[in-house]
Amino acid sequence: MEDWYNALKRDKPDLVDISGGEPLFISWIPNLMRAASSIYFGLSTNGLAQTGIKNLCENRIPNLVSINVSVHPSSKIVGAFERWKISVLSLMAAGYSVHCNIVDAPGNVDAASESIRWMQENDVHFEVSPYEKVSDLGVMMKSGLLCEGGINHLVVAPDGTAWPCLTTLRSPYYKNTSLGNWLDNTIDIRRKPQPCYLNCTDYYVLAKEHTAGDMWNVQARPAEGK
Ligand code: SF4
Repeated sequence: MEDWYNALKRDKPDLVDISGGEPLFISWIPNLMRAASSIYFGLSTNGLAQTGIKNLCENRIPNLVSINVSVHPSSKIVGAFERWKISVLSLMAAGYSVHCNIVDAPGNVDAASESIRWMQENDVHFEVSPYEKVSDLGVMMKSGLLCEGGINHLVVAPDGTAWPCLTTLRSPYYKNTSLGNWLDNTIDIRRKPQPCYLNCTDYYVLAKEHTAGDMWNVQARPAEGK
């Protein structure tokens, strides 16, 4: 936790969004948010880590401004639906801003019909977000893009390795597109591919299909004439 706290202090971001895997399986995550009280946090959880959910509810974290309790209708975990519902209601009762995300993967929205009905009955805010397919991320595009990835937005793995965006991390080119290590303070923005010929999810999918548009503010745009 100290490494993360020190990096947040050194290079203070406006907002840190913690996702997974399942971040609430890491016991010190709530304490990191409490310690870095001048930074806003968002959190994505599947709602099944009940000790972590209890921790958030019993001692509300004011700077945790948004919690996504994602919907996984195909979960094979026994009791997952009931546990997810309890987590959503508990977090809302504790005063958090809660929303539930359903990924528009093939068959997923239909499979989530019972969850959708329950959310509508209980005034739970939810959204259907586009499917960020990773299987096409090895395809290089004919036209290049410029962007503010790495400046407005940094994707950081648990060991501190950082990328300008999720596309670079998820693509087969992840080794060459890493900017360095954020925890070790070795980020070098010059390593970012510009113009970038990757099949940019932020530009080709999110900006066009997500209700939040360019949700990571990378501002990807055509590199005219390049
Ligand atoms: S253009 Fe898109 S894929 Fe390329 S670095 Fe920027 S955000 Fe990432």
